[in-house]
Amino acid sequence: MTNKIFDVVVVGAGFAGISAVHKLKKQGLKTIVFEAGGGVGGTWYFNKYPGARCDTHSMEYSYQFSEELQQDWEWSEKYATQPEILRYLDHTVDRFNLRENIRLNTRVEKLIWKQDDSQWEVSISTGELFLTDYVVMATGCLSKPNLPNIRGIDTFSGEIYHTSRWPEKKPDFASKNVGIIGTGSSGIQCIPLIAKEANHLIVYQRTPNYSVPARNEVLSEDFVKDIKSRYQLFREDNYKQGFGLNLPLNDISALDVSEEERTEAFERQWQKGGLGFLTSFNDILFNMESNVHAQNFIRNKIKTIVKNPLVAKKLMPNTPVACKRLCVDTDYYETFNLPNVELVDIKMNPIDFIKSKSVVLGNTEHKLDTLIIATGFDAMTGALTNIEIIGKDGESIKDKWKTGPSAYLGIAISGFPNFFMITGPGSPSVLSNMVPSIEQHVNWISDCIKFLKNKNFVSIEAELNAQHSWMEKVNKISDQTIYPHCQSWYLGTNIKGKKQAFTAYLGVPPYIDECREVVDSGYKGFYLSK
Ligand code: NAP
Repeated sequence: MTNKIFDVVVVGAGFAGISAVHKLKKQGLKTIVFEAGGGVGGTWYFNKYPGARCDTHSMEYSYQFSEELQQDWEWSEKYATQPEILRYLDHTVDRFNLRENIRLNTRVEKLIWKQDDSQWEVSISTGELFLTDYVVMATGCLSKPNLPNIRGIDTFSGEIYHTSRWPEKKPDFASKNVGIIGTGSSGIQCIPLIAKEANHLIVYQRTPNYSVPARNEVLSEDFVKDIKSRYQLFREDNYKQGFGLNLPLNDISALDVSEEERTEAFERQWQKGGLGFLTSFNDILFNMESNVHAQNFIRNKIKTIVKNPLVAKKLMPNTPVACKRLCVDTDYYETFNLPNVELVDIKMNPIDFIKSKSVVLGNTEHKLDTLIIATGFDAMTGALTNIEIIGKDGESIKDKWKTGPSAYLGIAISGFPNFFMITGPGSPSVLSNMVPSIEQHVNWISDCIKFLKNKNFVSIEAELNAQHSWMEKVNKISDQTIYPHCQSWYLGTNIKGKKQAFTAYLGVPPYIDECREVVDSGYKGFYLSK
């Protein structure tokens, strides 16, 4: 039996879902959020591993929909920890009375478009059914875990944890022999902290990653006061930057300066810490020759920091910088100087299998008490294709995207009316500051629903041609960058059988202009039905 009818069903209660329910509820729409987790926060709820923190400045990685909220909330550090982010999200939910609209521990399992009624039927994990006029997918770009397919992994009888499904009760590593598989951002954040506790830590590295120091610090009162005195302007200025982030602006090519000046510029950003390293020059992401200079700089740093030259060599990536997401760390490379830390290159010496209490590589057996899996996510599309979503021609998104994800503006999909994605494939999403990008989408979706209601349209659906042209544009932009030049989750190559495609739109300001133009032209590229 079908239960209640909603105006909007939002899937996911992370930053995106919370922002969506706040906006849509305020607009007078009967809105419910279904969240699989036992608390709000989305990926920030599940990724509780030691050292989990955001690598975007906290005063930027936060909501701007309420001036009071952004004035009242006090971020303690430059890069907020996972618990602090959760406290912020819980505070937001309570402050705006959103908890009554959020159902936790509830997974959306199926969505079916009912053409005759112009509504979606929503099935949830309790077996209940709902009808809704609109669906907003706030399922996140990095939320579905990627589990490694290593023979025998299921037979490991010690403690085993995936970084993105970390248990509530803090695991104890003291006097334990611990292994960790994966050296992306998650691995790089937790390795230094686990190394401090464990008796012995073995890091299984398939591909080395570039990492720059975070240089995290407590926020000074003066800094906070300054930003808060001009918060709105600060946000507006950030939207005008390529990544939507307040990174150092630089108009100079790495090729237009002397070797000495180049090293100085990289060193300045290295000392400052964080992702600003990428904008040391204006062409690190676009010109391979410039990128090589950035690569050499970081490889030299690794050589200087890591005392054992063989270990240092193993840690040196040979891919372009930022082609895999640049990592931001605290003492990552330094950790390999500790006597209880061992680095194993599993590309050279692959893991053959895992058994009850050990990892086996050829003739070597590592006895372990604890195994940590830091192998990342089925990014960009995983959370969407994980749900059975059947559109108007009876086909699912999962089937449609077998040949690669395709969406219009990263917000809508042809064949799926009244269905909106927040930071979906084809939008800046992971190549931008996620929270402002989420809010930009939430505002767009809210305005769109307002428009439809005011004009008595019952549905909106992306045109296939507009969608194709859009994805061509996204690809054309990425082809001018270094991003397609290595294997990465950006491309989906970390997931076996996944069609390789780069689906993030590089450039926040042009993207915002395009979204605005679509609205100004009366929703060009969309079918509107009465
Ligand atoms: P990731 O970047 O995809 O890294 C996964 C790691 O696991 C890689 O080293 C990968 O090696 C390895 N791996 C995957 N499958 C494997 C297998 N079967 N056998 C052995 N090794 C395997 O995942 P992540 O570290 O979770 O980070 C994902 C993204 O989440 C980040 O890039 C970032 O955008 C976001 N994140 C952000 C923060 C932050 O704000 N500070 C923190 C954590 C995560 P290969 O490279 O060879 O595939």
